[in-house]
Amino acid sequence: MFVLILGAPGAGKGTQGKILADRLSLVKITTGDILRAAVKAGTPIGQDAKKFMDDGKLVPDSIILDLIKAELADPRAKQGAVFDGFPRTAAQAELVDRVMGERGQRLTHVLLLDVPEEELVRRLHGRAVLEGRSDDTPEAIRTRLQVYQRDTAPLIAHYAQRGVVHRVPGTGSVEQITGEIQRIIGR
Ligand code: ADP
Repeated sequence: MFVLILGAPGAGKGTQGKILADRLSLVKITTGDILRAAVKAGTPIGQDAKKFMDDGKLVPDSIILDLIKAELADPRAKQGAVFDGFPRTAAQAELVDRVMGERGQRLTHVLLLDVPEEELVRRLHGRAVLEGRSDDTPEAIRTRLQVYQRDTAPLIAHYAQRGVVHRVPGTGSVEQITGEIQRIIGR
């Protein structure tokens, strides 16, 4: 089972992805966490990525594609995985499709966490106060929401053609949303 959690910043991908991965004993691959760890460790990728992240822009595909390839090669992801935060561009989706295809794998579910824009803005500003993430400034938040609409939302149509997209209302309690995902996944 390979599940992609898709949704705007603040939609709850990290929260629901973790619950799902724990329940199904799957690895969760989260490019945002990997990049934040690289920034913290000061690796070359982290140094390159930091400015883009702080501005709320996407880290360029020239940096991300190799990172994704390496993550997909993780032996623990052989039987299945939950993808959170990627693919985020058409080029990333092509790479994921190609690498998985070469292994006879495919995305089995794309869960689209659907949250109205006003609620996303409210959540992201609330989280800024709690977590102090450097990309939760008002300008970066605005940019991230725009970048999602422009670069990532088109992937919905790409996957919908294959009939694997399930729209999940992302408002309500965490438990309600988890329940809806459980119903869709069927376990
Ligand atoms: P959010 O979904 O709230 O924007 P993430 O943790 O997924 O949070 O991403 C934070 C930042 O990390 C993004 O704004 C972007 O700069 C970078 N990033 C994460 N994943 C990718 C990716 N697949 N491609 C490009 N940039 C990424």
